[in-house]
Amino acid sequence: MAAVSDNTELSATLFDRASAVTPGGVNSPVRAFRAVGGVPRFMASGDGCHITDVDGNTYVDLVCSWGPMLLGHAHPEVTAAVQAAVSRGTSYGTPTRAEVELGEEIVARTPVEKVRLVSSGTEATMSALRLARGATGRAKIVKFAGCYHGHVDALLAQAGSGVITLGIPGTPGVTEATTADTIVLPYNDKAAVTEAFAQYGDQIAAVITEASPGNMGVVPPVDNFNAFLARTCKDNGALFISDEVMTGFRITKSGWYGVDGVEPDLMTFGKVMGGGFPAAAFGGRADLMAHLAPEGSVYQAGTLSGNPIATTAGLTTLRLATDEVYARLDETSATLQRLVATALDKEGVPYVIQNAGNLFSVFFVESTEGQQQIRDFAGAGAQVLPRFAAFFHAMLDAGVYLPPSAFEAWFVSAAIDDDALATVETALAMAARAAAAVKN
Ligand SMILES: *Cc1c(COP(=O)(O)O)cnc(C)c1O
Repeated sequence: MAAVSDNTELSATLFDRASAVTPGGVNSPVRAFRAVGGVPRFMASGDGCHITDVDGNTYVDLVCSWGPMLLGHAHPEVTAAVQAAVSRGTSYGTPTRAEVELGEEIVARTPVEKVRLVSSGTEATMSALRLARGATGRAKIVKFAGCYHGHVDALLAQAGSGVITLGIPGTPGVTEATTADTIVLPYNDKAAVTEAFAQYGDQIAAVITEASPGNMGVVPPVDNFNAFLARTCKDNGALFISDEVMTGFRITKSGWYGVDGVEPDLMTFGKVMGGGFPAAAFGGRADLMAHLAPEGSVYQAGTLSGNPIATTAGLTTLRLATDEVYARLDETSATLQRLVATALDKEGVPYVIQNAGNLFSVFFVESTEGQQQIRDFAGAGAQVLPRFAAFFHAMLDAGVYLPPSAFEAWFVSAAIDDDALATVETALAMAARAAAAVKN
């Protein structure tokens, strides 16, 4: 299965056409393969754990649309539900049944009492910040370096030069005024959090963090970091916002919450809950959510929020995501991690594998001597990136589609079967050799 030729002619042609009309030829930067080089593959179809590009090459998919495709591609029941919904019309700008049921499903699975549906993870975190500021009457936000919360202006901030300084814009187009109320701290660093609260405690509206970061590679919280954040926020009248856009409904029935059980004031969701369509949400304590319009005065809205097709896809996906599915995802992920470790060990390639439930990533560290767990963005950055690029391309050539960056989680689906695992195992033997050939 998945014998891949190196024919990428039609992808290359489409990439040229795309580059003529779209900056960098893509509609989201990581798709462009800049970190690994080469021609991004334009996909034409997906079926179960496989995706097939326009040149007819088929890959075992370990990206899963960056998380959403928990059940695999074109799941028959999701497809049927979506087709039935589409045939009834695609949007009314009125409330519909599916959004009520999706809201109920989210409330049943997570600690949030009330939820508001939006269309992207970016919108969810942006709205959660506005709500936190509106509810507390405070301006400042604490975020952690290496945590990604979508392209929200105030969260595209880098740490300033001092230990505890206000953020500086992380990209042109974000003004200093916009990031002046953002404090960027190293992840897993309790002392930095304590110091920030000592300095700015009564001005901090919220701390936002990925529940278990996956956007710098998988770097889980250590030493009860989330519980510490929740307690520190509570003690200082700030809100704790747990961003589960990546982890929610993927790691467990609820998300990372199902692992550490730390109760946030507000949570954000996306990815899996849209079943491959644009749907996301933020939610939390009923008294906080009551600040939102039309119940309260914090404005938030969306023409396509709770869209009937997106909510049908998400609801059907969540209803199919049973305990058995999560057990299978855990097992598949453990097998994959073992296969990666075996292949890299055999070739003497140094690595660190970290996981958060079934999410995992492989860090191509310079050496394992004295290497400890990767705890933060600086640690994640110390990798031999050309080694990842060689590894990535060897996997691609052998029919396995990995995230095209060394700073991403690998995503499994419940559709991965023994044949696919065999394909991955064969690919890994070649990829480990390719990685070994790259010197530090
Ligand atoms: C993907 C992601 C987002 C942004 O979601 P979009 O739908 O891409 O806007 C926010 N937070 C986390 C943790 C994510 O992984």
